[in-house]
Amino acid sequence: MSLPIWLQDEYQKIVSLKQNQALSHALLIIGPQGAGQEVLAASLSMDLMCERSSPACGVCHSCELMKANTHPDYYCVDGQESSIKVDQIRTLSKQVSQKAQIGQTKVLHLIHSQNMNLNASNALLKILEEPPQGTYFLLTAFQAASLLPTIKSRCLLVNVPTPNMGEVQQWLATNYPNKNLESLFWLTKQPYELAYLSDSGKDAFYLEYPNKLEECIDSFSNLPAFLKSVDSKNILDFIKATQALCHQGLIFSASNEVVEEHRILCEKMLAQFGVHKLLSLYQSLQQLKEKTGLTNLNAPMQFKYEMNKWFN
Ligand SMILES: [Zn+2]
Repeated sequence: MSLPIWLQDEYQKIVSLKQNQALSHALLIIGPQGAGQEVLAASLSMDLMCERSSPACGVCHSCELMKANTHPDYYCVDGQESSIKVDQIRTLSKQVSQKAQIGQTKVLHLIHSQNMNLNASNALLKILEEPPQGTYFLLTAFQAASLLPTIKSRCLLVNVPTPNMGEVQQWLATNYPNKNLESLFWLTKQPYELAYLSDSGKDAFYLEYPNKLEECIDSFSNLPAFLKSVDSKNILDFIKATQALCHQGLIFSASNEVVEEHRILCEKMLAQFGVHKLLSLYQSLQQLKEKTGLTNLNAPMQFKYEMNKWFN
């Protein structure tokens, strides 16, 4: 597996630690969302599991099982969809306390580990304090702040850097040659965020969004049709897109520096709302985003209400 260039330094450092038998049993890999912490962790998992070498040989029994995603000593829990619960950690704790089935090593990968609730965090802390033999913990996160300090202090902190623009463009050209993902830089410049949007088919929604919003500014009568498709599944996409475009408008008002294709939209937004209203809209959306999913708030309805209030 070839790692993208911006992940290679950290990867090499960890490989040397392992070769010198100085690698911590717990790693916290953090970075901006979409910078590739999961990709780095996946590569490291392969290496840790390989029975022959580091970097992984790619052909031994363990490597084959890892590639097929069926290695019995590799455990993965993902907190993206819903928070990681204490029961999940307890189950993992039982599993990793057993002897490894294939080689000597077990790997436990917690994805989006910032989404662990307090009980789960405490349960994990207990395991980290007395780790079972031959077990590595790879925690990936994009908001280290929301992890317990006691967990952080038990881990080797690995910082995934933000790739520079040239690296992102090169990576997109290699991996998504027929996609127009650079047109979504107003939303995110993180390569794996862009990859996710493309793989999930959401890129079309976001590519169209600036035009749709512009139509609503041109005429309030376009707003009902625009908001018709908002539901509980796509609400965060609507919020994120609107917020990112408000942000573009705010950048434009301060520095005039904005991608060329958004210049007219930004001018229209500022003419319609003015800077203060645009900032308030941005902040209302931020609050709505934070509350979405946490409470029984009807977020789609609240979003429609906000949009009607601002656009009218
Ligand atoms: Zn191998």
